[in-house]
Order: sequence, then C-alpha cells, then structure tokens
Amino acid sequence: MKRLHLHDTLSRNRCEIFPEDGEKFRFYCCGPTVYGPAHIGNFRAFLVQDLFRRVIELSGIKTLHVRNITDVDDKTIREAQKSELSLVEFTAGWTERFHQDAKQLNMLDPHIEPSAVQHIPEQIQLIEKLIDNGNAYPSEDGSVYFSVKSYSNYGKLTRIDQRDLMAGAGETANDADEYEKDHVCDFVLWKARKPEDGDNYWDSPWGSGRPGWHLECSAMGMKYLGETFDLHAGGVDLCFPHHENEIAQSEASTGKKFALHWFHNEHLMVDGSKMSKSLGNLHTLEDIHDRGFSAAELRYSLLSGSYRTKINFSFDRMNEARINLKRIANLVQNLGADLPSYEELCERATFESMNLGSFESSWDALLEDLNAPAALGELFVAIKPLEKELAEGNVPEDTKKANLHGLALLVHAFGWVLPELESEQSSLDVPDHVKDLAERRWIAKQEKDWAESDRLRDAVIGEGWVIKDSKDGYELEPS
Ligand code: AMP
Ligand code: ZN
Repeated sequence: MKRLHLHDTLSRNRCEIFPEDGEKFRFYCCGPTVYGPAHIGNFRAFLVQDLFRRVIELSGIKTLHVRNITDVDDKTIREAQKSELSLVEFTAGWTERFHQDAKQLNMLDPHIEPSAVQHIPEQIQLIEKLIDNGNAYPSEDGSVYFSVKSYSNYGKLTRIDQRDLMAGAGETANDADEYEKDHVCDFVLWKARKPEDGDNYWDSPWGSGRPGWHLECSAMGMKYLGETFDLHAGGVDLCFPHHENEIAQSEASTGKKFALHWFHNEHLMVDGSKMSKSLGNLHTLEDIHDRGFSAAELRYSLLSGSYRTKINFSFDRMNEARINLKRIANLVQNLGADLPSYEELCERATFESMNLGSFESSWDALLEDLNAPAALGELFVAIKPLEKELAEGNVPEDTKKANLHGLALLVHAFGWVLPELESEQSSLDVPDHVKDLAERRWIAKQEKDWAESDRLRDAVIGEGWVIKDSKDGYELEPS
C-alpha cells in the first residue's frame, strides 16, 4: 500500500509516515483540559488526529496512540473549587462527558489515555534529572524552573531565537508572573503551593506544590512511547510555548531527540476569531444537536477543510455536510452490498494492494498531507458518472466490488457514519428543484428567518410536496 506523506512542522518538509521501529507508529496527542465541555474547535483538533490515525491504519500500519487528560492546572483547580467538588471528582465528570462526545463523533479511543494527576511521581523524577543535568534550578519559594539558556536548541520548533526571547518575546508566553526565576523566559517545572490551590498539592523534594503544565506531556509521552517516538500532535496554539518547552525539557533530560515529527492543526474560527472559551464564542456538541444537526454531520463538516488552513464554522457548512452524507449513503445503497468493516480493510491493507475503482485519486489526495478538500472534490467527481451508470444498470459486478472497496476506504478514513435513507420512493422521486427549495427553507429556519422559511414552505407545497420536520431534520412527502 502507498504511504501517507505529511507536513512536518519541525523540518518544514513533507515526510513519509512510517514506524521508526518497523512495527508500530507511536504518536502522542495533547488531550483535553477537563474543566468544562470541550468545544467543537477542540474537536477539530481531535478529529484531525483521528483522520490521521485512520489513514495510517488503513494503509496497513499499526499505531500506538497516546492522548493525555490534563486534570491539574490553574483552570481545573479554580473551577473545581467553585463547584465545591474535589479536583478528582470534578475532572472525572468532565472526562466522562468528553468520552461521551468523542464516542458520538465516532473517534477511535487512544490506546493509552494517561492523566497528569496519575503521573506526579514520573514528573518529579523528570525534574530531578533536569536539576542533576544542570538544566533546572529550585528557587527560594520552592518552585523549580527550567533554565532556557542551558539548552542551546531552545526554539527549534518555532524558530524562535533565544536572544529574541531574552529581549522579551517570551515574556507573556512563558509565565511572566513568576518572579522567582533567573531569567524572564525560564519556565516553571514545579509550582510551589499557593493558598488559592486549596488541597490540591503534592509533596516533592522542593516542598509541596504541583507540576507545571508543560511537564506532563514530556513525562507521559516518554513513559508510554519511549524517549524518542514518531510524532507529536496538537493545535497550532500549542507550538509555543507548550511544545517548545516539551522539547527542551525532554531532550535536555535524555540527550536524545524527543518526537521525530510534529503535526499541528489550524484553528476553527467563528466570524474571523478563534473559537475559544475565553472569547465566549464557542459551540459544544450539545449546541449542535439543539440546532437540529447530528454528530456525524459535525464530523463531516470539521474534516472537510484542510487541517492546515483555518476554517470558519457555519450552519451552511453543516447543511452541505447533511446533503453530501446522504448522497454518499445513497451510492453505497445503490452499490448493493454492505461496506467492509474498518478492521477488515486495515487487515487487508497489510497484505495486498487494493483496486479502489473510481476512488483511487480521492484516496491519493488524502495520502498527500491529508488533503481533505481535494479528496472530497475527487470523490464527488467519481460519484457522478457512477450514479448514472448504476441507474442505467450497466456496471459489472467486479467494478462494483472495486468501487465498494474504494468508497469504504474513504468512508472509514473520514469516519463518516452514514444516515439511514428515507424510503427509496421519496429519495428517488423528489425533483431536484423541490429538494433545493426544501434545503433553502431548512437553512432559513436554522437562521430563524421565519418569513423566508414560510415562503419557501409554501413554494414546496405549491409543487405538490409537504415538509415533515423532526428533531434532526426533515422529510419530503407527496401531498
Ligand atoms: P485544551 O482542552 O484547551 O487543552 O485544548 C485541546 C486541543 O484543542 C489542543 O490541541 C488545542 O490546540 C486545540 N484547540 C483549541 N482551540 C481550537 C480551535 N479553535 N480550533 C482548533 N483546535 C483548537
Ligand atoms: Zn501537551
């Protein structure tokens, strides 16, 4: 099978994805901070990582996927205290909610999901090693800092020059409120206990406190994947300082390369701004359901843009997702057999090269840096003539089989859950202009443009059809 080529943030080159140890592709993804529901911007990151893993596995390569849970930091402690639950109870509730949302979005579970609170000893050991190596120092208040000037490669991921950092570029990013450190750009590895931390502290050789946020991913990444592993992923906002600091503390402690490749996704935007909790412009999966859309439609929509470009969230985009998923489901039905399962495809890819019928170029587009828009473009170009040939009944069985295989590969790579189709009668017979009126009316309804929505409903009635609304959408029936 052909292999995936991916843009590596570290080398700035496109690299071939294969397991360095010849067995499993080992990768680490920065996971959710569990102090509230993850928003759909967070899910863009996790879905892109899910697409990445699926494409690798569907090309016949096994993976070892680690994604952590950040369950101790300023935000989790602050919100747990407001809720009057213990930190562990509070974060367990939001972790559970994250798992439920991830399941609805058809995300594969990581093979290992470690949490920061469960790995305090590993983090303390890492700090001890860094102090022994001369890369970290305790301060008078019982905190410990990483000395950026002790590690000459600092800044290699984002190409930040140490001199610029010293001049202040890192001041805001690397916790400028910590005054005990020798240099403004040094970052904290162990935070001495403060009154506002309440009961949330652990003993250490430097006094009670808690680990700094960057440390957990180094400690858990190296524990489960080895000191050097294949790839590390996260949203672009994590490049600096989080990932830069992870590299520094890991490589300074082992003298070895940490992650061989880095994979960063661009942001989901709303009206030109990044979707984030602090800007208050976020949607959760629950909001998406309340607006009448499904998790499957959200998944389609979030994966339809290139992971390297920002995408703007809109309900128009969700409507497009609905229409496209129905079209794909219709094609699968017309191909006349069940799709092979994800596991079956992964297994087959290990042993044989596959005939993908008309969907070869769509799959090839995905293998070129997960180019989803190109893959979808090629998919719909392939679908059109196939629909026609199937309707005319002149597709030989072996061609059908190859197409079913090719289509299955794409359905599983994108992780699409295809909708149940309406009765064959109505899906085949509704004229295109009536479908179009009904779709426009659905959009008007989502946008609460009631006058336009009523006008379009009347137009549909005028064509001899009625619209039956349900929680998740609508159906057209002859009047
Ligand atoms: P957090 O729960 O804040 O630790 O973030 C979890 C993941 O979501 C990280 O990989 C972030 O980089 C990513 N992320 C946060 N906001 C967005 C956004 N608007 N679009 C895409 N990814 C995001
Ligand atoms: Zn991380």
